[in-house]
Amino acid sequence: MTNTHKTKIVIIGSGPAGYAAAIYAARANLSPTLISGMQPGGQLTITTDVENYPGFANVIQGPWLMEEMAKQAIHVGTKIVDDHIKEVDFSRKSKEEPFILIGESGDIYHAEAVIICTGAQAKWLGLESEKKFQGFGVSGCATCDGFFFKNQEVIVIGGGNSAVEEALYLTNHAKKVYLVHRGDKLRSEKILQDRLFKNPKIEVIWSHSLQEVTGSENPKLVTGAILKNSLTNELKTMKIDGIFIAIGHKPNSDLFKNTNLEIDNEGYIITKPNSTKTNIEGIYAAGDIQDKIYRQAVTAAGTGCMAALEVEKFLSH
Ligand code: NAP
Repeated sequence: MTNTHKTKIVIIGSGPAGYAAAIYAARANLSPTLISGMQPGGQLTITTDVENYPGFANVIQGPWLMEEMAKQAIHVGTKIVDDHIKEVDFSRKSKEEPFILIGESGDIYHAEAVIICTGAQAKWLGLESEKKFQGFGVSGCATCDGFFFKNQEVIVIGGGNSAVEEALYLTNHAKKVYLVHRGDKLRSEKILQDRLFKNPKIEVIWSHSLQEVTGSENPKLVTGAILKNSLTNELKTMKIDGIFIAIGHKPNSDLFKNTNLEIDNEGYIITKPNSTKTNIEGIYAAGDIQDKIYRQAVTAAGTGCMAALEVEKFLSH
């Protein structure tokens, strides 16, 4: 049976931005409804150890952190709905009309304000072995996981700004960083390339792609990589401790393509400077869906908080 839920605020997405927005909105007595989406807990549920989220002296687990955020959001009065929004209608003619969201479940959500926290996802190569070792030596985030490769040897895949920045960052921890790029020139900014080429810990392996991640079963850990030379098709086996995939991020904004929401050419929702307001009054965006620079759990939570405070002000007028 299809239900229609009428609520002041709908928050789409259950990463740190979504939960922070929910906690602040609930504590402002706005009774928010948070729709969890396809991957409840977001990107942190595919990482393991988290050491940079403030407030925890010991290593915590990403999935655990997200469960705690969910519990906190419920505790202060958030209604969490296990649904995935498949369609939105933001074209209301007046402020008296609601924004309309339709879930995969068939349920319809009417909201006076919407906070979009649908996040982004690191692009992956799509290899079976890459998936198998995700969280066990294969990572999509050097700032999250680089620390665990102290004095070890790692590979970064990619040739854009992200890959070069990740390689440079990893030299703070690893003893050797190989940047493996499928082409013969990088597309990253010149200044980053200069830093990369000057760094004695980094070696670029040109015209190679990752063919397979190899590893042990017990403990489950990456131990090597098989690379393929794109010019000769020759295979090269390397002993390696970690593999960082940095071939770009994709913001989860496809849902909004047919709305008037301003989205940039990389798919990020555009928000006003120092604000989470979008071009549509009453629609806000927080976290990785609007942030292409920091992409951290703590910055996502920060913008989630900002969005809830801005919605509170908007609804009180
Ligand atoms: P990007 O610029 O799209 O670069 C992706 C890189 O990955 C390219 O070198 C590409 O190779 C490679 N790649 C893509 N698919 C691949 C595959 N299947 N196998 C092997 N290699 C593959 O992505 P990004 O570096 O994440 O940057 C995204 C955007 O964010 C860019 O606009 C970037 O400028 C911006 N950004 C800015 C900063 C900064 O300003 N500090 C930092 C990070 C990102 P090809 O070159 O051969 O296509």
